[in-house]
Amino acid sequence: MVRTIEAISEQVSGGATPTRLDSGVLDAMRRTPRHAFVPAHLQDLAYSDRPLPIGYGQTISQPYIVALMTDLLRLEPHSRALEIGTGSGYQAAVLAELGHEVFTIEIVPALADQAAKRLSDLGYDTVRAREGDGYFGWPDAAPFDGIVVTAAASHVPPPLIKQLKPGGRMVIPVGAAFMTQQLMLIEKQADGTVRTEALLPVSFVPLTSAQ
Ligand code: SAH
Repeated sequence: MVRTIEAISEQVSGGATPTRLDSGVLDAMRRTPRHAFVPAHLQDLAYSDRPLPIGYGQTISQPYIVALMTDLLRLEPHSRALEIGTGSGYQAAVLAELGHEVFTIEIVPALADQAAKRLSDLGYDTVRAREGDGYFGWPDAAPFDGIVVTAAASHVPPPLIKQLKPGGRMVIPVGAAFMTQQLMLIEKQADGTVRTEALLPVSFVPLTSAQ
């Protein structure tokens, strides 16, 4: 799986999209048991580089995209990371494998429960998972060194920009639901100004709202 990720990286690199992903990120991907995050009937496909259904109309993301988004956060060791869209819990586990403190929010109650249990059973003690609408972030745990949004938003949620530390990065797919979106890199500068860069076309399930 990681060899495929490396091969794709070389093909799609350009701009802020790196040719070679960080070796620490690739090692974390090697250590994370993706089969434990994939439904029983799809076990054979757990280590192929493709998204897979996890129920409730949602998917576990393609491993290359998980590796790329994790790499783009450029987190220092022992950072504080926020994920919007826990889904299976896989992306949160990869961040935890890197030694970060992870906060993750899922809007579908059953998925939030399953992922919290799975992460705890697998011993990912540095992940805090809760149910809720991630559009509003996790104000009590803010600010974050990095924020990764794993569902497509029509715009970058202002609460998430607010909860990003100066010097922090956010990676988020932005665009219309059920169409191709742009993966955006948002960097909050030391002076609080925000720099935005579109990286590559991606296809995510939509960020929904509890409202
Ligand atoms: N990161 C996941 C994949 C996520 S798929 C993994 O590694 O498996 C996107 C997830 O975002 C879905 O589970 C969906 O229910 C959730 N989601 C959609 N809108 C949301 C919102 N407003 N807040 C939190 N989660 C949301």
